[in-house]
Amino acid sequence: MVPGNQLKTAKILLADNDLVNVLALKNILHAHGFRNIYNNKPVTNERLVDPDNLPALVVLNVDNTNGSQLQVLKNLLREIALPEIPILLLTRDTNSELVRNALQLGVKDVISWPFNENEVVSRISVLLENHYLAKMVRERHMGQKGASPGHQLQVIELTRQLEQIKRTQLQDRQLAGYDSLTGLANTASLCDHLSNVMRNIREDDRIVAMLLFSLESFSEITKSVGYASGDQILQAAADRISESVERLSNLKNSPETYFTAKYSGGKFVVVINDLESETKAISIAHRILATMSAPFELPNIVLDIGTQVGVSLAPRFTTEATEIVRQSEVALHTAKMGSQPLIVYEKSIDNYDPRRLALMAELRKAINNDALYLVYQPKIDIKTGVVSGVEALLRWNHPELGLIPPNEFIPLAEQSSVIKPLTVWVLNNAMRQATAFASSGLDIAIAVNISACSLRDDSLVGYTKMLLQKNNVEPNRLILEITESAMMQDPNKGLNLLNQLNNIGVQISIDDYGTGYSSLAYLKRLPVKEMKIDRTFIKDMAVDEDDKLIVGTTIDMGHNFGLRVIAEGVEDGQTVKLLKEMGCDQVQGYYYAKPMPVGELYEWMTVDNKVAWTLN
Ligand code: C2E
Ligand code: CA
Ligand code: CA
Repeated sequence: MVPGNQLKTAKILLADNDLVNVLALKNILHAHGFRNIYNNKPVTNERLVDPDNLPALVVLNVDNTNGSQLQVLKNLLREIALPEIPILLLTRDTNSELVRNALQLGVKDVISWPFNENEVVSRISVLLENHYLAKMVRERHMGQKGASPGHQLQVIELTRQLEQIKRTQLQDRQLAGYDSLTGLANTASLCDHLSNVMRNIREDDRIVAMLLFSLESFSEITKSVGYASGDQILQAAADRISESVERLSNLKNSPETYFTAKYSGGKFVVVINDLESETKAISIAHRILATMSAPFELPNIVLDIGTQVGVSLAPRFTTEATEIVRQSEVALHTAKMGSQPLIVYEKSIDNYDPRRLALMAELRKAINNDALYLVYQPKIDIKTGVVSGVEALLRWNHPELGLIPPNEFIPLAEQSSVIKPLTVWVLNNAMRQATAFASSGLDIAIAVNISACSLRDDSLVGYTKMLLQKNNVEPNRLILEITESAMMQDPNKGLNLLNQLNNIGVQISIDDYGTGYSSLAYLKRLPVKEMKIDRTFIKDMAVDEDDKLIVGTTIDMGHNFGLRVIAEGVEDGQTVKLLKEMGCDQVQGYYYAKPMPVGELYEWMTVDNKVAWTLN
């Protein structure tokens, strides 16, 4: 047998461009004791694995790959062909041509995303186990050149063990269908059942509902009354659910069929198949809830325990088994947040993607643990070549995932409450840096990016003012960059807030200009000082006449409005020359400098006197 320890320390490579997926999978594998996991991004024509440090298994997701997915897969197979490292392909679309090709090419297993936690862990374990056994067999086989019959027997014995393991795994799956405490189906058979039901739903034109019941604060209750009493509550709850399901299924003229299962913690599932209507599912959920409302009588104590239920429906929102489960969890979570007993899943409540929550919880920690830092990109006065200011750009150095670019985590933060502490963190750190610049005699402004959702937050003005005062920074040294589309989201509220910010003396800049649809009449009323022409127009203006025309007219229009105009994303000298001719005021881009940590920025500015130092 392969020792369990060897499996848990096996090196697993997660090859996926989506860091949220990586994090979700990593958390799951960590929770199941796997300790040696790392990740890498699959990119066409780049090596994925280090030949001197090979993994034991690769979990590959090419869904978000730039370029040819099949090519990435072929490259990987070529890289690891010799040592025969198994590949588990994760994909949203298990019916695709890619999957057929992948299996033909030698990918060992395929799992559809979003996946079921237990399934992915068990498949990874099986692949690793088989991999190690096969390796042992091979090693013995190779070692037996000169062939002693004893060696040959060992090879046969190991091969037999390998087959045996495969068989027991299969049997285990079939036997372990029930939860030993409540006698209800367990999660493994729930998964099988849902997969069956959902497979048929596409042909049968019927409605399926998943009801996910949860005993309120079950884990806290267990902690206070003890685990034995906790088990009694679970048994009693399971009995109540089974009895009411039995009553319901005995009703006349009810074509539905029911499947009841014990889920994790204090949760239970009822899957209803062959429903006539969605409203019927909801009324059934209410009836089961009613039977749960009576107090639970334990030998020494009577407990009133609330129950909540999340309902998800198929085929309206999904025809995938894993997705109907996730949607019922979203509905249940929403019920808990709003203290409501029953919520039916709808797209509009789906802010609670568990993967997103995991990453956001980490971001919250990062804000407190100094895992964030700011880099600064100079803005340069095109006429004098002197640095007039810097833009602060946020970086997150995740302990496991490495550097995560802002475009990957800020949009998530914007959809959650994390954006506020994040904005406060950025402003505070940028203000501290502004003080440091001023005290080293640097006369430059600092620009900070402000998200659209912060523009809807009334406290933005208050904390900006407070942070300026706390750090003793002159307000006009702070530039708030707000995208054109953010300004247009709620024009009245936006205008009001921008006026307040203008009143405390900070400068406002329109970021990514040209990518939104602002009306000139509205722009005229805004208290802005600066306009940044988006990189998409700048990057090809030296070769594209249309872009050149747009940039030229935008510069003129900006000047007519009395604005300072900046071109962002400038990467070559030809573009600088054109911008100068067009009268653009400032430039920013890789041609001059990439965003840099502050130490590097100081070094960069010192060379050739790129700044006006007022002291020394
Ligand atoms: P942005 O405000 O448009 O920032 C400019 C982005 O373009 C930066 O990417 C910068 O590194 C990149 N860039 C600058 N010059 C060039 C160039 O010459 N060529 C190319 N190809 N790219 C160039 P970064 O740092 O990844 O930031 C991406 C976006 O993330 C920013 O776009 C901004 O919208 C957002 N962001 C960054 N930091 C913060 C922050 O602290 N708060 C908020 N709310 N958003 C932020
Ligand atoms: Ca910006
Ligand atoms: Ca921009």
